[in-house]
Amino acid sequence: QSVFSHIVRAPEDPILGVTVAYNKDTSPVKLNLGVGAYRTEEGKPLVLNVVRKAEQLLVNDRSRIKEYLPIVGLADFNKLSAKLILGADSPAIQENRVTTVQCLSGTGSLRVGGEFLAQHYHQRTIYIPQPTWGNHPKIFTLAGLSVKSYRYYDPATRGLHFQGLLEDLGSAPSGAIVLLHACAHNPTGVDPTKDQWEQIRRLMRSKGLLPFFDSAYQGFASGSLDIDAQSVRMFVADGGEVLVAQSYAKNMGLYGERVGALSIVCRNADVASRVESQLKLVIRPMYSSPPIHGASIVATILKDRNLYHEWTLELKAMADRIIRMRQQLFDALRAKGTPGDWSHIIKQIGMFTFTGLNKEQVAFMTKEYHIYMTSDGRISMAGLSSRTVPHLTDAIHAAVT
Ligand code: PLP
Repeated sequence: QSVFSHIVRAPEDPILGVTVAYNKDTSPVKLNLGVGAYRTEEGKPLVLNVVRKAEQLLVNDRSRIKEYLPIVGLADFNKLSAKLILGADSPAIQENRVTTVQCLSGTGSLRVGGEFLAQHYHQRTIYIPQPTWGNHPKIFTLAGLSVKSYRYYDPATRGLHFQGLLEDLGSAPSGAIVLLHACAHNPTGVDPTKDQWEQIRRLMRSKGLLPFFDSAYQGFASGSLDIDAQSVRMFVADGGEVLVAQSYAKNMGLYGERVGALSIVCRNADVASRVESQLKLVIRPMYSSPPIHGASIVATILKDRNLYHEWTLELKAMADRIIRMRQQLFDALRAKGTPGDWSHIIKQIGMFTFTGLNKEQVAFMTKEYHIYMTSDGRISMAGLSSRTVPHLTDAIHAAVT
């Protein structure tokens, strides 16, 4: 008799479970649009050339050792990551009021930030958008925060529920934490316009709400690192405090290397250094110190002009392919005369299209067409190619008619 015999089987993760089901399907036409990872036109995972080059440089450098990194990670990586998200000429960085710690990709950065806030911030409520990435509520609940949501997406317009968002943040208790997707909102692909961001910023600052940005797609959404960081930079430019979690999973294709950063922009250098001392106390008992390889790749690329430039080109190529897939799918649905307005496919931004297909339609497409996606109708544009657009178009057409 096992001491664990009472344990019940947990459900599959709703996102990763899609791939589990896909792998079991033996159909030659099966298509996985559930994965949140980039695929080439041939449907293959991609390692960027610039990453291969950086790894080669690292391997050839015999002076490199495998000692532990400090608790906060690789110093170069941290500095360069803050510059990447806040801008090379950011006054906050020059004034030394940003503390950055290397964490385990975006997820780890959110968790460390959440734990820090739960221990040290006076208001333990975090507002997350409705809907949001499925891991957000779990990360912040386990970190010790109380999770509430604000209206974000309007199914009627398949766009931003801007009025609802302003109302909900407007009635949030003063000081509450607000999670914001820096760009390419997951799962909806709907972002506020620059003008709407400005209104959100003003409202949040007037109420003393604390912004916590999740930046998982910088450069991956528009193809420009600066444009995709615009929302974060607006909130830093006003001198107020900001948290930001960065991931290099998508924009450098370093998914499995688990490399990311948490930056906390503080009012002044003195606060920042005290905040950093407490972040170390959060990290040390959690995983002691972060891994060295992925952060070394990122630092190698970010500090070399040529490699950095090469990276921006490869990044733009990924973003452009995704944007092309949007256009092709939209054109194909139009050409087929599929009922409905599908313009949201080309209006939405980032890796995902929130199709508006319901649970039953998704189940139908999986059963009849072997197309896999999350039950909320979210499809990964990165999983699509010119070759598979017709199959998806047929499936959507059949599902809605
Ligand atoms: N935040 C959002 C909105 C995401 O979509 C993802 C990945 O899918 C992440 C954070 C974190 O990813 P990772 O931990 O792989 O960096």
